[in-house]
Amino acid sequence: MSRTGLEASGVTIGGARILDGKAVAAEVRAGVRARAQALIARGVQPGLAVVLVGEDPASQVYVRNKDKAAQEAGFSVRTLKLPAQTAQAELERVVRELNADRSVHGVLVQLPLPRGLDSERIVRALDPAKDVDGLHPENVAALVMGDARGLAPCTPAGCIELCDRAGVSLAGKRVTVVGRSLLVGKPLAFLALARDATVTVCHSKTSDLPAVCREADVLVAAVGRPELVRGSWIKPGAVVIDVGINRLDGGGLAGDVAFAEARAVAGWLTPVPGGVGPMTIAMLLSNTVLAAERAAGVSRA
Ligand code: NAD
Repeated sequence: MSRTGLEASGVTIGGARILDGKAVAAEVRAGVRARAQALIARGVQPGLAVVLVGEDPASQVYVRNKDKAAQEAGFSVRTLKLPAQTAQAELERVVRELNADRSVHGVLVQLPLPRGLDSERIVRALDPAKDVDGLHPENVAALVMGDARGLAPCTPAGCIELCDRAGVSLAGKRVTVVGRSLLVGKPLAFLALARDATVTVCHSKTSDLPAVCREADVLVAAVGRPELVRGSWIKPGAVVIDVGINRLDGGGLAGDVAFAEARAVAGWLTPVPGGVGPMTIAMLLSNTVLAAERAAGVSRA
């Protein structure tokens, strides 16, 4: 969303303006749909294959949402559901088949995989050009090297896109990322570095985490602990991006940031739900259309 668009949408609660991931994701998805139409006009329909192994309820919801979003973007979508007992060799064979299928431009194996399956080996089996989750070592290397020819992981890429479209520049800012996972924390740190931020990465062994967080102009929480980040940890006016999705025992979702406290202090704040979550799916679509454009030889990126 353009800066003025976001301001016009005008969601201000307490002190913080809301970084409306749902609205920004809708903008990204509209752009993806237009690019898909342009490809279709050239005879290439972007194709996404989603592989779901086992019956994990959260994974089933994620896969359903991805499938629906990809169809709405005009992609052809193939969802392959395999039993939890699927052998490693069989799953690798499925991945290799999708690698070889020219109608498929993006392959996503929903993680986590059931016990007994080695997800690292599965990710390595993916064709890096079709690895729309951005987890293959070649894509990780591209990210670290600042090489734009890779595919970046969707959730951290979504955080950056959210800042971009709100007109929040990261250049020269102190960006603090809480969490160092391969999926979110680490790649986000490299994406922020590529935007000329000064980056600090915190984790479970960081001493005096609240004090480190208070130095951040942009604070990203990607931990998986409900409301870990308190209002008193936030520098007044900071941009706060809450990646956490925590299912509460009594039902409902909570982020990693204490929203009510944070909104009184922060300058910008993402809600949960409706913040980073929708951006993750939007960036998956964006990576897939980019992979299709590259395969068709019409991409400038
Ligand atoms: P993870 O468990 O792989 O990593 C968590 C990180 O937090 C680790 O690096 C760990 O060192 C750090 N950590 C744990 N306890 C800590 C503490 N007390 N203080 C500081 N750091 C601590 O999790 P992940 O895959 O990175 O996911 C993080 C959160 O983001 C989860 O809630 C997950 O559900 C959510 N998530 C959301 C999306 C989305 O689309 N919005 C996508 C992926 C993950």
